[in-house]
Amino acid sequence: MAGMFDVVVIGGGHAGCEAAAAAARLGAHTALLTQSARTIGVMSCNPAIGGIGKGHLVREIDALDGVMARCADVAGIQFRVLNQSKGPAVRGPRAQTDRKLYARAMQAAIGAQENLSVITSTANRLLISQGRITGVALESGETISCGAVILTTGTFLNGMVHIGGQRIPAGRFGSAPAIGLSDSLLAQGFALARLKTGTPARLDGRTINWAALENQPGDAAPEMLSTLNAAPTAPQIDCHVVRTTTAGHQLIRDNLRDSPLHTGAITGAGPRYCPSIEDKVVRFGERDSHQVFLEPEGLDDPSIYPNGLSISLAEPVQRAFLRTIEGLENVELLRPGYAIEYDYVDPRQLEATLETQAVRGLFLAGQINGTTGYEEAAGQGIVAGLNAAALAGGAAPVTFERSEAYLGVMIDDLVTRGVSEPYRMFTSRAEFRLSLRADNADRRLTARGRALGCVGAARAAAFDDKLARIDSGRRALEAISLSPNEAGKLGLAVNGDGVRRCLFQLLSRPDVSFAALAGAFPQLRGIAPEVAGALEADAQYDVYLPRQLKDTQSLARDKAVKLPRDFDYGRVASLSTELRTKLRARRPDSLGSAADIEGMTPAALLAVLAEVRVRR
Ligand code: FAD
Repeated sequence: MAGMFDVVVIGGGHAGCEAAAAAARLGAHTALLTQSARTIGVMSCNPAIGGIGKGHLVREIDALDGVMARCADVAGIQFRVLNQSKGPAVRGPRAQTDRKLYARAMQAAIGAQENLSVITSTANRLLISQGRITGVALESGETISCGAVILTTGTFLNGMVHIGGQRIPAGRFGSAPAIGLSDSLLAQGFALARLKTGTPARLDGRTINWAALENQPGDAAPEMLSTLNAAPTAPQIDCHVVRTTTAGHQLIRDNLRDSPLHTGAITGAGPRYCPSIEDKVVRFGERDSHQVFLEPEGLDDPSIYPNGLSISLAEPVQRAFLRTIEGLENVELLRPGYAIEYDYVDPRQLEATLETQAVRGLFLAGQINGTTGYEEAAGQGIVAGLNAAALAGGAAPVTFERSEAYLGVMIDDLVTRGVSEPYRMFTSRAEFRLSLRADNADRRLTARGRALGCVGAARAAAFDDKLARIDSGRRALEAISLSPNEAGKLGLAVNGDGVRRCLFQLLSRPDVSFAALAGAFPQLRGIAPEVAGALEADAQYDVYLPRQLKDTQSLARDKAVKLPRDFDYGRVASLSTELRTKLRARRPDSLGSAADIEGMTPAALLAVLAEVRVRR
């Protein structure tokens, strides 16, 4: 026997690392089982962490003292907050990372974690007795016995890589697929299905004409992903922007007959929101150009990731297509792009703890549950890790409400609605998105994490300090009140309604910034920018929270509202094409059934409800 553990995590990707670290933080004797220790923390696709919705998940993981944000900060070579011009609720922090630095940081974090051992081997089979997990059989013939297993094998279950007409069995480029584990799951009666995803070719940066390209620098004041970090440690770089051309699109059209996406060689659905260039050319035929970001994969690495160009055509076609883009006329490929098809498990077979309903002690997390993205995987990983450790230690299950965290939104979406295409996080999926902000993830979750026992002393102390500073800043704002007249004299634009308002209330107005208040009141000038930002966001949303609550109560209350069979969804102007198509196809008979449709958003339901009421 290769050992006895409380929790065994199979897979050292984004779900696996977070799961193993979380279980070990709760004190469970944990093993991370991976084919090669060098692949721990490897990014299979884009070298970036965070973004809209995804950045929210990363901050929530960080709030529970997870590892992803801290590793991304160490590896970050460009930081940008996306959606900066929109409200704080939908802003997403993102770090462009050095791939090697990220994996190295993750390997160091896993190596330094108490209660956690890394076992280098391939899991072949799950050992199950009387509906309960008892261990894992390894390729070597040895077994590990344990009380809980977290399976996080990403795209490896029966993975098949496609490049043009070529088919290569693989979990990702250069790694063998996991075949035995799919059989173990099938033997337990789990429903599996196929999905696909893809990745672009990697370009040789030494063959790109950089002088011809538009620069995209990071933010002037970089915002870190972890609240424990203040500034980047790695040198910062620019990305560049290019555009595809009509000549390139024509080349794709001319070769579509050889694309495995169109020949029928791939049957699984791909990520709707991250389509391949073949899909873009077919689906958005009216567009003659698509924007592409050229992202360096590392500081000492010539490899460039062309974000937005995932492709599965044959390598010579990929090269010819890329050479139609300005600046890439002589580009050489370091590796071709490819599509991969893999098995996933229908997540409706899981509890909200991510434990399977069929096998006690077996948890699934990450891409195996039909999601796409590192952050979605890591978010499930931390929840599965906490629950596997709770099961081993006889503690209560750990679940998150939709009103509490994007973690709760994602898991509820997965286990109640299932997926038929890869699931990724968007802020529009949350009915409580005004309160589920990236900037307040710690205030939503760190106290909970502390009570669970997964938050260490350093974070707890930093959190207490930040809370005290926010409290004192808020008190300073509430201590001063101004009439509209007084405010006007200080240059603050306020309605002349005669009502005195404290500075916190004034801060809720879009044209009053914290900087303007600090300009007028010297006692506010010592408040740190992160605290000022939190106060600004709190003030801005304070006035909208009652409305948010009313809307969510209305959705809960009006589930039984009937939707007429002949209801014209074309009249609901704000519906996306995706949801309008699904509603027309499904014709749900009530608002509650509409809510069960995969991808349905609270805003879309409210819009349908409003239109139904107008019709009555
Ligand atoms: P992974 O990160 O894949 O980790 C799986 C781990 O399991 C690996 O460490 C592997 O070694 C291990 N493993 C597998 N089988 C066994 C076994 N039998 N025994 C022991 N260990 C095992 N996401 C996006 O958001 N946007 C994209 O554009 C995008 N494109 C992608 C393109 C490709 C080609 C691929 C492969 C993935 C892409 N992704 C993309 C998805 C992203 O990489 C995954 O969502 C994310 O890595 C999933 O994390 P995970 O932890 O579930 O799995």
